[in-house]
Amino acid sequence: MSNLPVKVLVPSLPTIAQIEPYLHRIDSARIYSNFGPLATEFAQRLGGSTGSESVTLTSNGTSAIEIALRLKALPGRKLCVMPSFTFVASAHAVCNVGLTPAFVDIDPVSLVLTPELVEAVLPRLPEQPAAVLVISAFGAPIDQEGWARFEVRNGIPVVFDAAAAVTALHHVGHAPVCVSLHATKVLGIGEGGAILSSDAEFGQRATAMTGFGFMGVERTSALRGGNFRISEYAAAVGLAALDALPTKVEMLRNVAFAYRTRLEATGRRARLQEGVGDWVTMSLNIIVEPDDVKATIEKLDAQEIQWRRWWGLGCHRHPAFADCPTFGLAVTNKVAPTVIGVPCHDGLKDEDFDRIVACFPSAAHARTTQAGSFVEDLIEQEVPTL
Ligand SMILES: *Cc1c(COP(=O)(O)O)cnc(C)c1O
Repeated sequence: MSNLPVKVLVPSLPTIAQIEPYLHRIDSARIYSNFGPLATEFAQRLGGSTGSESVTLTSNGTSAIEIALRLKALPGRKLCVMPSFTFVASAHAVCNVGLTPAFVDIDPVSLVLTPELVEAVLPRLPEQPAAVLVISAFGAPIDQEGWARFEVRNGIPVVFDAAAAVTALHHVGHAPVCVSLHATKVLGIGEGGAILSSDAEFGQRATAMTGFGFMGVERTSALRGGNFRISEYAAAVGLAALDALPTKVEMLRNVAFAYRTRLEATGRRARLQEGVGDWVTMSLNIIVEPDDVKATIEKLDAQEIQWRRWWGLGCHRHPAFADCPTFGLAVTNKVAPTVIGVPCHDGLKDEDFDRIVACFPSAAHARTTQAGSFVEDLIEQEVPTL
């Protein structure tokens, strides 16, 4: 049994039984979309759990980012400063709203942009940016206060792509925070997303944009938008997912704890992503030294333990974004290959954790020689290994 492949991610959404009571409400109300009672209740409960006064539900996380950028980006400007190290959805969203990503580097420990990093790059940009898209690293909390001060200092709006961080939010400020409700995120409903904010007027406009720009009671398009709503059926799954959320968060916390205790007890030269366990994620990463990458992934492969670089080696490595300008990606190039997504789900047993952690290098043993060139080779490759 222990030789079965270990899957890296096994999503778990509410069961039919958990969703059923909400489906009966749809049958009775005969309202199926257009901000119906279930969607309204789901938005309210989501606002309560994230400390967010305004909640706009969207068809997915990518459209949430697009709508927030359309409302926030400064008119007449073309660039959107963003890290290359993120899921490609972030870069697609930026391009879809007519902006050009200006890919910048990340902090090597937190794996995200900092206001200081962006302020150091601003003078080097060919023109001032329309916005900054700040990413949460795999669900980690975001520095809303630090970025609010950045906005005041620089007059450049900030939008957060906190796609995986919905359970790490306890108070949402002025700048829009976009989350994903995709099946592979902690609060998964299949497909869905939301824009959270404390700015009620912004929220009204964002919500209007999800429904053809209708504002008020008349069927008048007050602003350009589209159809990015969720149906009442999706909202039913959302309500059931919120019911089941505490149990899921507890399970994911236990997974992080299982890794942390073993990594420490067996003295591994590898670390869990900073802070994980205090917050939870479906894409749990163990970060190794560049020299240890090759040996580690070979061991995982040999043991049939699935692993994944959830964000690949950075957006700039994808052909779709190869023509976007970059402004120094030394840290991204060095760190991205070392971020190894490991199995994270409720099907893992004690012996699975033991076996996975044993694939990581022991601090007691010297590094394998020449392994460092493996990371350099990876950086040289035209098309990244994802
Ligand atoms: C999942 C994710 C998205 C996209 O969300 P969808 O709901 O799949 O559109 C965007 N950015 C990041 C960082 C993500 O992890």
